[in-house]
Amino acid sequence: MDSDQLILSGQMMLKFVADYWRTIENRSVLPSVQPGYLQPLLPSQAPEEPEQFSQIINDLESTIMQGVTHWQSPYFYAYYPTANSYAAICGDILSAGIACVGFSWIASPSCTELEVIVMDWLVKALNLPEFFLSTGNGGGVIQGTASEAVLVAVLAARSRVLNRMQEKDSSITLGKLLDKLVVYCSDQAHSSVDKAVLIVGCKLRKIVSDNNCSIKADQLEQAISDDRAKDLIPFCLVATLGSTPTCAFDDVAGLGKVCQEENIWLHVDAAYAGSAFICPEYQYLLNGVEYSDSFNFNPHKWMLVNFDCSAMWIKDRTYFINAFNVDPLYLKHDYSKVAPDYRHWQIPLGRRFRSLKLWFVLRTYGLSGIRKHIRKHIELAKLFISYLENDKRFEIVFPSITMGLVCFRLKDGSNELNEKLLKALNEDKRIYLVPSMVKQRFILRLVVCSYLTEVKHIEYAWNIIKEVATKLLTKT
Ligand code: PLP
Repeated sequence: MDSDQLILSGQMMLKFVADYWRTIENRSVLPSVQPGYLQPLLPSQAPEEPEQFSQIINDLESTIMQGVTHWQSPYFYAYYPTANSYAAICGDILSAGIACVGFSWIASPSCTELEVIVMDWLVKALNLPEFFLSTGNGGGVIQGTASEAVLVAVLAARSRVLNRMQEKDSSITLGKLLDKLVVYCSDQAHSSVDKAVLIVGCKLRKIVSDNNCSIKADQLEQAISDDRAKDLIPFCLVATLGSTPTCAFDDVAGLGKVCQEENIWLHVDAAYAGSAFICPEYQYLLNGVEYSDSFNFNPHKWMLVNFDCSAMWIKDRTYFINAFNVDPLYLKHDYSKVAPDYRHWQIPLGRRFRSLKLWFVLRTYGLSGIRKHIRKHIELAKLFISYLENDKRFEIVFPSITMGLVCFRLKDGSNELNEKLLKALNEDKRIYLVPSMVKQRFILRLVVCSYLTEVKHIEYAWNIIKEVATKLLTKT
């Protein structure tokens, strides 16, 4: 393919994508395929001879698209959203087109510098503490996922506690320490904390959340004192702002004070809800974030930036550099003392030019446009709440601060009955939801996900839920 062909093929591909978005509502949100469906539709070997691009595009509909779950469909209400926008797609095309790998400043200066700039913009836009700005000791970095952000936070915390212990006793090694190190989180925290702890090789203590699915300072204090009595070493807390099952908010202000007194690293995971802090009316939820050592949220969940883009900040970047500093000669350069080398801030060496899509989105929508998007989703969730409130058969469960998630179930219904409701809804395939089990209660989660979701879609989803529930209740 030469440059002229790129223009033609690119136009074909953009048309395909634009048509996909234009007609996405007409597709069933869930595909109707079985595992292994694709194998018989494709040859068993790669083609020996080149094929026409137009032919490949022509094959898309009958092969790939048959097995797509349409995350951008306005009938998709599952998990948490994966954001997207045309501006982000364009930024990603440019990233693929430039195709540099910006692991150090010299490896591609603009790749590093744009990331520094847009991460500083976000600190200001979300009203995060100034110590996260690159102008001080802190700074921001784009990780691929929140899971990576949590992992590097725990690794940095581990490096800090090891250094502190070694200052007191130089014979201490990581090997000797690992078995005693404890990370804390809520029993509602995302499974990425479990995974990070598995990788780091230390202990995890889950604190039982209260009826609002949130954890508080006194519980953390108690857990720390129990563990210290057992000669363990508490070193890190991962607090959540907007938990995965119910979008619950931990009491970061109270927990943060305890972390400060106990010299414990506080990481705040706001993977989903963080995007809402761009709206001043939700910034009160950041109360206590000034105690945090690191913080992450996913623009790729709710801020119109497509996957992958997890924004993370650290208060003191030297902890990253200490934790991950490997410095072979071939990666050294003359400016490493004056410009950030992001290879020290992450697990892989290579990194894409992800800041481009963030930059395109921030400029195309402006902060006001992004706020409008967030507020619209929250209004749509409130609309769904109003429908539930007017139907005595349903109850809203674990009501948290309304973001785009609503948790509900059939009132007085058993877990079994609610499981049947969810199964029937997903077999029906007109809308897609996923459940959660919280405090022994099976709940249905409806999350406003798509950029395309409008009032009529929420009405439609509600009508389907009522219809399927009526059928189910008349059978039982
Ligand atoms: N943290 C929270 C609170 C989440 O809700 C999720 C995913 O939904 C994650 C972390 C993991 O996100 P990622 O897929 O970016 O690793």
